[in-house]
Amino acid sequence: MIYVMGHKNPDTDSVIGAIAEAEFLRQRGLETKAVIQGPVNPETEWVLKRFNLEVPQIMTSVAGKTVSLVDTSEPLQLPDDINDANIESIVDHHNLGGIRTDKVSFITIRPYGSTCTIIQGQFKDRDYGIPARLAGAMMCAILSDTVLLKSPTTTDKDKRVVSKLSIMADVDWEELGMEMLRAKSDVSKDSIDDLISRDSKEFEMASGRRVTIGVLELVDTTSVCSRIDEIKEKLEAIHKSGKNIIFLIVDIMKEGAWMLSYTDNDEKIERLFMGTWTDHIAFIPGILSRKKQVVPELIREF
Ligand code: MG
Ligand code: MG
Ligand code: MG
Repeated sequence: MIYVMGHKNPDTDSVIGAIAEAEFLRQRGLETKAVIQGPVNPETEWVLKRFNLEVPQIMTSVAGKTVSLVDTSEPLQLPDDINDANIESIVDHHNLGGIRTDKVSFITIRPYGSTCTIIQGQFKDRDYGIPARLAGAMMCAILSDTVLLKSPTTTDKDKRVVSKLSIMADVDWEELGMEMLRAKSDVSKDSIDDLISRDSKEFEMASGRRVTIGVLELVDTTSVCSRIDEIKEKLEAIHKSGKNIIFLIVDIMKEGAWMLSYTDNDEKIERLFMGTWTDHIAFIPGILSRKKQVVPELIREF
């Protein structure tokens, strides 16, 4: 059995990517099961429901198991015992992380906007069919990762694949994408802990420092902005417990992000990301992508 999984704090690309890759490997004749490392976020829940797909089971330990990884190759974002697993394959659109494999694996890394873009190509190369419901969900995953094809991580390939998948699923991508983003923009009922950790990833800087970077992407930030004091309080508490934490609230419509910084050198962060900083927060115009516009700069300079 091959367990297909994405990163911790799974996002839509990671969950749908696991389901899609499990289907692809199944069509290749392998026995597979898509799994996740933690509960799905509200956006992913919406996508799974919309396309009538099952929520994968949670699996947090993989010692002795055969696994296929999607949407990450970074040990910090994988189960703690990942080095005791047999890695069958990796399909990812991030830089190659610190993973080590014992045998020769299938590794596909492409600089596209989403893992599901790469997986669509795998189906196409082998003339395998993508079930309509899965096609719709994969389209949503690409729209999620590329912020409706607006993020600087978006490539022409992503645009072409979205258009193909929308035909397969018989849906209007723009309409469905907005509906998906609107569905998660009312955060008035979500707990602050959940909002901060929902899409949070830990990174190791060149300096050896570790920084946790959380992202919340919204089409309407009214509801989250009314809770900014609670968010600040929580971030401060996390920092006091010994962590460096940066939290980004991406305003998709304004095409920029509120950045909140609670690290052991906030002055440096304020120099790296120019904006009008007041009390740990600034709006940084143009920032839509953690991967492309925040992480590389931090790893190098912080
Ligand atoms: Mg992801
Ligand atoms: Mg992704
Ligand atoms: Mg994302």
